[in-house]
Amino acid sequence: MTSGFIPPKAVRQFGSWIDGAWSFRQGAQIMSVNPANGTRVSLLHEAGEGLVDQACVRAHAAFEAGWRLSSGEQRSNVLMRTAGLIRENVDELAWFEMAESGKPHKQARLEIERSAMLWEFAATQARSLTGDSFGGLGKDYLALTLRAPVGVAAIVTPWNFPFLIVSQKLPFALVAGCAAVVKPSELTSATTLLLGPILKQAGLPDGVCNIVTGSGRLTGEALLKHPLTRMISFTGSTAVGKHAMEIGARMLKKVSLELGGKNAHIVMNDADLGAALDAVLHGAFLNAGQSCNQGGRILLQNGIAKDFTRKFIEAARSIPVGDTLRDDVLMGPIISEAQYRKILGYIEIGKAEGATLALGGTCREEAGGRYIDPTVFTEVASSMRIAQEEIFGPVCTIQSFETLDEAFAIANGTDYGLSAGIWTRDTAAALKAARELEAGTVWVNTYLDGPAELPFGGLGASGIGREVGRVGCEEFMDIKTVQLRSGGYQPRWIGKAI
Ligand code: NAP
Ligand code: MG
Repeated sequence: MTSGFIPPKAVRQFGSWIDGAWSFRQGAQIMSVNPANGTRVSLLHEAGEGLVDQACVRAHAAFEAGWRLSSGEQRSNVLMRTAGLIRENVDELAWFEMAESGKPHKQARLEIERSAMLWEFAATQARSLTGDSFGGLGKDYLALTLRAPVGVAAIVTPWNFPFLIVSQKLPFALVAGCAAVVKPSELTSATTLLLGPILKQAGLPDGVCNIVTGSGRLTGEALLKHPLTRMISFTGSTAVGKHAMEIGARMLKKVSLELGGKNAHIVMNDADLGAALDAVLHGAFLNAGQSCNQGGRILLQNGIAKDFTRKFIEAARSIPVGDTLRDDVLMGPIISEAQYRKILGYIEIGKAEGATLALGGTCREEAGGRYIDPTVFTEVASSMRIAQEEIFGPVCTIQSFETLDEAFAIANGTDYGLSAGIWTRDTAAALKAARELEAGTVWVNTYLDGPAELPFGGLGASGIGREVGRVGCEEFMDIKTVQLRSGGYQPRWIGKAI
């Protein structure tokens, strides 16, 4: 850690952030703990239906009172100042992100910096959102499309990249002129809640962004169902995403879902194998595999499969796992007991299905943290559950193939379609992959890059809608068609002027 911020010795208390102030009005207490050592980090006061209602009512009022008609200049200024304040507070934000999500501090810091960049990008969009004009409709007849904010957006986010994911949604909602009520995961609410005072300091009018804290079951549910939230922007599991969509369908809300993944990472014989090895490791084990973009299905062309597998296993074996404050550590603990049990369950399933456990499968509970070592299965068939279902842990499968078409068949053979990667020096193969891989993002000779200009999202069980980029702003807007005649109206009903 650098200047200024001193890690807190006491538990930090948070209420919900409503109308520009903390509200501790009601609710059960929820304690977040550091997954690396079991120490208590934040005490939350759960928002029940009443407080969620207040948050939505305030958001709606602030939307109507002016934010929806605020200028691009005003929005841009607020977002740019927010980005600056995120950077000023990077030490505190990175510490809480590390302490609650259990990721190495260095990675938490990078995540906060990347998030600031998303706010900066969104600020640039605020002044350039446009509609279309239609000048060719005939004499004395002109039309245009306006983009109008949807209204109050309900934003629900998960625990794996809490600050990054809220930053993929909230600034884009604000650019669009929407108000928002945000609910972070109860496991990792601190950094999202810290955004409340930052937004106020940046000049966002009170009530435009409210942050409610609590469980998905109570607080999240109340938020999704609230009649004043006109859009649901959800990132999380496919199961809860379907539930969110059902609520949206019943109440005819706009729904955008970023869900799970089971992503294929392909290496061809002609690839730059050194670069590919690093990227495949990064893709498989970043955030201890607790990443929607995890490249957990590694597909190797026969010519390099044996050698690459050996090198991959050797390198994975040496990934430092443990203390999140150490700069050399690349993998921290698993977020929760439930997630730990789920991952270990999948390792047992893999063994029972007949795959070969080539590395890892080992775990330990140590000083209050739960760790699973990098785990690699070989001799894997596509039909196995470990090759089909999202494990969300440091577990990957290796399969081999001969032709590009075989690789595509394996890669596309799951319900998911979030992302895919391919390493090759052959331009024709790269272009074919870009077209044939059924995924929202295809990385060629890179993996996990994500400039703010580029839309992100999934197909199939990985979700609906796109966030980030210009499209990320447009998701939070409706198109309004305006038709203007300046003469030449032909009576067509009673047939004559009265
Ligand atoms: P989750 O259990 O679906 O939870 C996501 C969010 O929904 C949390 O804030 C959760 O609150 C809330 N929630 C749970 N039940 C709810 C309900 N009935 N009504 C309203 N909200 C509810 O997912 P997770 O375990 O946190 O995260 C892991 C999943 O997220 C993985 O499947 C992963 O692939 C996916 N993910 C996807 C992306 C992407 O961009 N595609 C990015 C990251 C993660 P509580 O946590 O407080 O219960
Ligand atoms: Mg959950």
